[in-house]
Amino acid sequence: MKRPISSTIVEIERSLDAFFAFYRSYLTVPGDPEACDFCFGNPHEMPLPEIGEAIARWAAARSERWFEYKDSVPASVAAVVASLRSRLGIPFEGQDVALTTGAFGALAAALRAIVDAGDEVIYLSPPWFFYPQMIMTLGALPVRVDLPAPSFELPLAAIEGAITPRTRAIIVNSPHNPTGRILQPDELSGLAQILDRATERNGSPVYLLSDESYSRILFDGATFHSPVAHYRRSFLIYTYGKVLLAPGQRLGFVAMPPGMPDRPALRSALQTAQIVGGWLYPNAVMQYALADLDALSIDIAALQRRRDRILMELGAMGYETLRPSGTFYVVIRSPLPDDVAFSALLSQRKVHVLPGAAFEMPGWFRLSLTASDAMVERGLPGFESALAAARRALST
Ligand code: PMP
Repeated sequence: MKRPISSTIVEIERSLDAFFAFYRSYLTVPGDPEACDFCFGNPHEMPLPEIGEAIARWAAARSERWFEYKDSVPASVAAVVASLRSRLGIPFEGQDVALTTGAFGALAAALRAIVDAGDEVIYLSPPWFFYPQMIMTLGALPVRVDLPAPSFELPLAAIEGAITPRTRAIIVNSPHNPTGRILQPDELSGLAQILDRATERNGSPVYLLSDESYSRILFDGATFHSPVAHYRRSFLIYTYGKVLLAPGQRLGFVAMPPGMPDRPALRSALQTAQIVGGWLYPNAVMQYALADLDALSIDIAALQRRRDRILMELGAMGYETLRPSGTFYVVIRSPLPDDVAFSALLSQRKVHVLPGAAFEMPGWFRLSLTASDAMVERGLPGFESALAAARRALST
């Protein structure tokens, strides 16, 4: 059943309020040397030295116009095309790739390029925190469809039921923040059929925004399946912030596959959206460095070891966990129904996590595997004693 729009908006505002309330309280955490910080996908160890070396190599001006306004530098676009072709096997063309300030910039540009005020955009819940608000910023309506726990498979019937004549797009995120699930080919072809039917019924395209921010953060030899390979009216959204664990450097792109209808019109819509959205192109130096950076990755095996250690230790304590196939995150059921209250119990023990209230997943909380190994070891007793405190509270 479709939820009433008004209740969705109230819940979105509530989640965002919870997020910012949490974020304000979080701000003292990074300065505390004893903190075990599992809150966000931020680095807690020294970055890959090659990142700084690449940036330094390209920061020295080689011509008069080195630091001129940059939209998408052709050599860097060519590097993206080569990378996408080899990783996904899709023959993207350079003119359909726009470099952006990370996935934030790519999402903002793609949404602005296709969405008008009054349109509806479907998102899947639990979402990345900012999708609903980014949709609302354009005067469009976010329409929420819940991913069913504990499988979090695409709820195809519910998605089809949520589509109306005003539906313009759906945002899909695989591997999924926060559950770490990878969408499988059968779900993606089912989704493509629904979107094709909706496009025909509506007489106007229903687009897919495919947020592939974590497509290179995969565990246990898992394969990533790009939704873009299944549906031609797709925008591929990517950021280098995850694979480099350098989100502050703001580098990413949006790409349309060769099968996308009306590409010339969409190219100029994207260009306008990037400019009026506040010059959503990466700075000149990051663009020059892109080809070098594209070859780099943080140590995924180390993340996987950390995931395994956390799942094993917390599982043995009695926590209920979900096992991610990719991303930085692990979601864990809150021993108290109130995840904000339980997160506070953890914070008192210097273990900091993101409560599910901040991402439409009440009753759960999220850990980021980008915490250091030392934080994990230091934090384990805190997890144990917070669980005991929660059990005491529940039994009184
Ligand atoms: N999409 C998802 C699913 C994310 O998790 C994030 C970052 N947390 C973003 C988009 C934004 O990425 P960036 O900050 O690199 O633009």
